[in-house]
Amino acid sequence: MESQHVLIIGAGLAGTSLAHQLLAKGHRVQLIDRGINHSTAVAAGMVNPMVFRRMNKSWRLDEFISDARNFYLQLEKTVEDKLFHPIVIRRMLSSEQERNYWLERQKSPEFTDYLTEINPEDESYSLAQNHFGSGRLKSSFWVDAKRYYDLNLAYFERKGSLLKEDFDSSSFDENTLVYKGIPYDKVVFSVGYQQINTPFFQELPIQQTKGQTIRIRSQEVPENESLNRKCFVLPLGNHVFRIGATYEWDNPDLSPTEEAKQELIGHLNVLGDFSYDILDQQVGVRPTVLDRRPILGAHHSIKNVFLFNGLGTKGYLMAPTLARELADFMFEGKPLDKEISINRFYKKLNL
Ligand SMILES: Cc1cc2nc3c(=O)[nH]c(=O)nc-3n(C[C@H](O)[C@H](O)[C@H](O)COP(=O)(O)OP(=O)(O)OC[C@H]3O[C@@H](n4cnc5c(N)ncnc54)[C@H](O)[C@@H]3O)c2cc1C
Repeated sequence: MESQHVLIIGAGLAGTSLAHQLLAKGHRVQLIDRGINHSTAVAAGMVNPMVFRRMNKSWRLDEFISDARNFYLQLEKTVEDKLFHPIVIRRMLSSEQERNYWLERQKSPEFTDYLTEINPEDESYSLAQNHFGSGRLKSSFWVDAKRYYDLNLAYFERKGSLLKEDFDSSSFDENTLVYKGIPYDKVVFSVGYQQINTPFFQELPIQQTKGQTIRIRSQEVPENESLNRKCFVLPLGNHVFRIGATYEWDNPDLSPTEEAKQELIGHLNVLGDFSYDILDQQVGVRPTVLDRRPILGAHHSIKNVFLFNGLGTKGYLMAPTLARELADFMFEGKPLDKEISINRFYKKLNL
């Protein structure tokens, strides 16, 4: 296929995963990003395969997780730096019912890649509050989120493929797809929770879900695994841990709050009577959609203008596969899955 020139607005997870996908297919990309990021760069970057309580797999897990692992490992080679960290998540089971779900599933072939069988040490695990036993997850990992954003920006800047600026809609002609005098074949908006402030796709229900985390230092919290119950405790090394995360719907405010801090401390205290110092607090905003599915597709009336948004709480798991699916849709006309297609909203809006 002939190489095309694609303008991508927003260089978070959505924009950069798509950019790498397009480069691999032989296209040229130009990213625009204002150089400040409040989602991709502040995320914990964890990929947890399970949805606890009912102990279900994350949506489309088997496809997403292998693509994601391969993508971050390949990216490490591209940017020549470390980003990908395998981790064992230890779930402190929260009820008899949750424990029963785990016991039912641990032998099923569908779950063997993700759930270890609960053994006597898991039953009697004593480094955290243990009422119903605990279980360990396989195949989990975390991506160093701040590095992901910084290294990607530096990479595309070195290639001459990044404009560090605000997208200026008055310099964009939607009929010719010319931006600041340069013509593009296709344009993709991937601006995350700031979609509402962007003059395209404003009709879509992308919500702004504020999230906060804290970092602590503790000599007592175990470092070899990531404890989980009510909150996650992600070991970052040198006895530093990230604790998260809160959810505040329809709130794009970027200031840290005392309530969120107290909520996270409360959750941590449920896990154990640890002593620790709080180092700092992080705030971000996730682009979420009520039906919990991302939104991908073509603009209803402007030709060759596309959207990649709504990555929600699991962007690090989903973005690599979705970027490929969007690229296949844009260049090969492969239809997008109905669950993620923008058309589910356009139909309702009669567009
Ligand atoms: C506290 C917190 C914890 C999280 N933890 C996890 C986790 O553990 N695991 C996980 O998978 N996900 C997690 N997430 C979710 C994940 O971060 C998001 O799904 C993902 O980062 C969204 O990526 P995005 O590219 O759509 O948006 P963004 O990261 O917001 O990127 C959009 C980019 O567009 C740019 N931009 C916007 N408007 C303009 C404009 N007009 N001009 C120029 N540039 C513009 C911005 O500068 C930004 O860099 C977390 C999120 C938060 C807030």
